[in-house]
Formats: sequence, C-alpha cells, structure tokens
Amino acid sequence: VASSSGSGDEKELRAPICCILGHVDAGKTKLLDCIRRTKVQQGEAGGITQQIGTTYLPVENIRERTSLKAEVTVKVPGLLVIDTPGHESFSKMRSRGSSLCDIAVVVVDITRGLEKQTIESLDLLKRHNVRFIVALNKVDRLYGWKPCHNAPIAKALKNQSVDVQMEYRWRLTEVVTQFKENGFNTALYYENKKMKHVFNIVPTSAKSCEGIPDLLLLLVRWVPEIMIEKLVYDDTVECTVLEVNEVKDLGATIDVVLINGVLHQGDQVIVCTEQGPVTTVIKDLLTPHPMKELKAKGIYKHHKELRAAQGVKIVARGLQHAMAGTSLVVVKAGDDLQQCEAVAMQEIDRVISMMDENVEGKAIQEVSRIRTCKEGVYVQASSIGTLEAIIAHLKRNNVNIAVSCWNLGPVNKEDVIKATAMLKRKEEYAAILAFDVKVMPEAAGLAAESGVKILMPDTVYKLVDSYTEHINEYKEAKKMQCAAEAIFPCTLKILPNRVYHSKDPIVCDVEVQEGVAKVGTAICVCIPSKDRTEHIVHSLGRISSIKTSNGNQIFSAKQGVVSIKEIVTNELKPVFWVD
Ligand code: GDP
Repeated sequence: VASSSGSGDEKELRAPICCILGHVDAGKTKLLDCIRRTKVQQGEAGGITQQIGTTYLPVENIRERTSLKAEVTVKVPGLLVIDTPGHESFSKMRSRGSSLCDIAVVVVDITRGLEKQTIESLDLLKRHNVRFIVALNKVDRLYGWKPCHNAPIAKALKNQSVDVQMEYRWRLTEVVTQFKENGFNTALYYENKKMKHVFNIVPTSAKSCEGIPDLLLLLVRWVPEIMIEKLVYDDTVECTVLEVNEVKDLGATIDVVLINGVLHQGDQVIVCTEQGPVTTVIKDLLTPHPMKELKAKGIYKHHKELRAAQGVKIVARGLQHAMAGTSLVVVKAGDDLQQCEAVAMQEIDRVISMMDENVEGKAIQEVSRIRTCKEGVYVQASSIGTLEAIIAHLKRNNVNIAVSCWNLGPVNKEDVIKATAMLKRKEEYAAILAFDVKVMPEAAGLAAESGVKILMPDTVYKLVDSYTEHINEYKEAKKMQCAAEAIFPCTLKILPNRVYHSKDPIVCDVEVQEGVAKVGTAICVCIPSKDRTEHIVHSLGRISSIKTSNGNQIFSAKQGVVSIKEIVTNELKPVFWVD
C-alpha cells in the first residue's frame, strides 16, 4: 500500500486490479507474458489460458521497465493483474474477473479489428461499469514493421517507414470507427484530451513488447487519477474467491483476490459453497514469489498475515466446494456467527443472480451449482473453475451430457469405482471425462478391466468430439451385439412343390408376405390340427443364410420379393433362396 499525495490528505492506496479481455487469439496470453516476462502461452494445451491466475507487479519493477524518473510520483504500490482466459466458454470466468477488477485491458488484434468476443467483453464491462484501456495489439504484423524491442510506442513508430505509418493510421481509424459504432469513444492515449470520457488506445506488440511500457504507465499513473476514491485502502476485508484448487499435501485450497483489508492465519472465515455457508479457520496464507503467476509451480511463501491488494492462496478445511465469484466473509471477534452466515447466504444468492444476468443466463446458473443427476457421466477436472467452464461449454453447444458425479484432482481408483455404477444403469455413461488432470495408473488399469472409458481431451473444443465419438462407438458396438438378437417379424409362404429338402437342412422357396426375413430370424410353421379346429406351431430354428436365385448371398429379403425360388432349412440352420 502506498500513500497518495496531491489531494493534501495522506490516504493509503492499494494496487489497482486489472483484467485482460478480448477475442480468442487477439494476444491476451502473450501480452500478459510480456507484462510479466514469462512464457505461459507456449506451454498451454491448444494455446488457451484455462484458469484464472494473478500476477502482482511491484511499482519498482514498473519504474525500472518504463525508465520512469525518480521524481515522478506513482501513487499506487503496484499492479495486480488477473489473467482472464479468452475462449468463449470461459465468459463466466471473464465476467467474474471483470466484476472484481478496477480496470480492464481489452486486447484487439489490429489486423482484425473488433470481433465477436471483443464486443461481448465490451458489453460485460459496460454492464459492470468498468473502465478499460484498449491494447491495439500485433502492430508488428503491419507489413514492413521494424521491431524495436520493449520500446515505447511513439519511439517504435518513429522508426517505421512512411508506408507502415500510413497503414497503421488507416487501421487505427478503422478500429476507432468500430468502437464508435458500438457506442464507445476511443482515441490514441497520447492524443486523448478527454481521458475521463474517451477511452485510451495503446498500440502494442506482444511479440516484440513495443507499447508495453506505455500500457504499464497508464495502468499505474492514469488509473489512480480517475478512480482515486476506489483505490483508497480500507481495513474491511474484501476478498473474492477465484477458484478452488487441489494442491498435493494441502488438499483443497482457494485462490482468492484480496481487494481490501488484511487476512491472518487463524482468522475464522465463512466460505460460500453450493451446500450453503461453511465456517472454517485459515490454516495458512500462501503467495508465490513476486512476478510469478499464482499457479506457477514452485515453493509458496508462507505468511502470518497478508494485506490487500494481492492474489492469495488460502489453506483451510472444508474449501472443496467453495463457489468461485463469491466473497469470503471474515468473522471478527465479537461478531455474531449466525449473522455472518446470513451475510454469506446473501452472497451466494447475489452471485447466482449476477450470473443470471450474464450472457449465458440460465445455463450459467445451473452450472454454478453443478447439477448432477442419477444417470450421467463422471467429470473430473483440475479446478472448480475449469469444471464449470467445461459444463458451460457443453451446454452452450447444446450437447446434452448428463453429469452424475464430479470430482477435482487426479483420477483415482475411487473415481473409477464410482463411475462403474453406470455400467448397470446406463452403460454409455460409464465414462470419465477427465480434463486437465492426470489418471493414476491403478485407476487406468481398473477402468480398462471394468469397462469404464476414460476420455482425456486436451482442449475444451475437443471435449464434445471426444464424447460424441465415444457415444457413436458405443452405439455401433451395441448395434452389432443386438443384430444377432433382434427380432424382425415376418410372414413367409412356402411355395407349393418347392420344398427341395425336408430335413437337415430344410431347403425350400418362400414368398415374403409381410415384414423382413433376415439371417438369424427364428422361424416356425403353423400346421392345422387334424380336426382343423386349431393350429399347431412347430419351431424350425433360425435362418442361417439367404441366397438369390443367381446364387448371391444376401442378409435380408423384404416383403414384395415374391419370386422366391428356394428355401433350405434344417432344424438349426434353415437357408432361404430368393430372387
Ligand atoms: P489469446 O487467445 O488472446 O490469449 O492469444 P495468444 O496470446 O495465445 O496469441 C494468439 C497467437 O497470436 C499466438 O500465436 C501468438 O504468438 C500470436 N500473437 C499474440 N500477440 C502477438 C503480437 O503482438 N504479434 C504477433 N506477431 N503475434 C502475436
């Protein structure tokens, strides 16, 4: 927390919280990599960011990278960036990110302009009244661009040929027009005379990092100017759950964004879960090392207390069903526990109704509670956020996959055992959709043995294909299996004087009068009793093959094929000859 000067009264300010939004492939991940100088984007399956993480950038780091002179005041202690994934199915997480952030960076690919998800993001920001900066990304893709690594954009532009500069201006005007068409006034930030009303555009390249210094400076210098009151540090704890994560040796932990106040080890807190409020005690507070993402592997730092604003991992009991997007309620000494639980209950309702307003409306609400039913597949994911995203994706694509059970973390033997329950109920559901998790060897062995299928798509896109393929395979196998057992009723008439062999095998010509005669069809004859008052039924066995008069083997003969030449049967293996 830093002190604000300027207004005279010294107020402590917290770090602004920033989220990154935009269309898929606009360069959100790469831009974030640039900001934190990591290579997350290259290591991800399908190139999609799949979880929300946070990165804290201390102001010293920003000063160093932007060559900011010592005498220039920065009022905030740093910047907290929430890494929000851009794929469509993550819009729920995006909305979470944007509802808790102070400022958003909307990434637009300069070569493509505003796209579907850019407009969705803008709608979301408008609804939540969140200000934004446009990162007009991929300027290096303008034909003939000469890279100027890490340079401020003005310097980088000066270095370009007249042609490049013309194309740049033309594309910039196009984007400004598109924003205007969507109801937003935008301008290049260094030409923007009405920064309070006109949204800033910063041209960037996430490849060569041009414009990144400009973006960082706007975030730590301009943002506090326009929202100083919002950034005044407050002792009252304000803390939002981003997601639940299973951590080896720690169990279920929650990643939270501490927006205001201080959290301590030993604090009694109430977590909002699908089953209602859960009261627990903070065992440990963990953070990664500065400049590393919260999810990055490595040793966490342990803290006795932590102060806003930052991303924190909380270790406590009973966190496994915490609902992402809800606030953590801290029970202070002297507080009435029941009253605090009532606050948490309201919080659960608030998040659900907020989700109701969301783009996906009802589907999201259902997902937030992860509705399960008696018959359905088993879904296993690395975190609750991922799990919800998968289910939202399935719903959005109108893939009606019923979910009977879900779990977080690696697929263990116990998960397979639970999934086998479907073998008796609805066999095709005896499958585990495992996403972003490991399958333990004993679990894989047991699944193969028992007939539970484990599907492991590496991206959300492939999830539907993988499931559909599984169902089709299942249906095909079932069809093959049933073919032998299926009954296709038919009536056959043995043609007069056309019984060529009466036993072992019976060979005769027939006319198919009704239905379909198939290989495998059980046949019988009806013979009138001696007094002709009733019919006696004699079983003749099954048809083993059918042949046409020219000797071709066929599988079935339909009604209307009248010129049947010959039928050959025996008790066990009758054969039809047909034309
Ligand atoms: P996201 O889906 O918005 O997170 O997009 P990514 O960060 O994954 O980027 C999508 C693709 O565009 C990747 O191949 C990146 O390497 C590439 N990319 C992103 N930013 C830039 C940029 O500024 N310049 C160029 N040339 N390529 C970029």
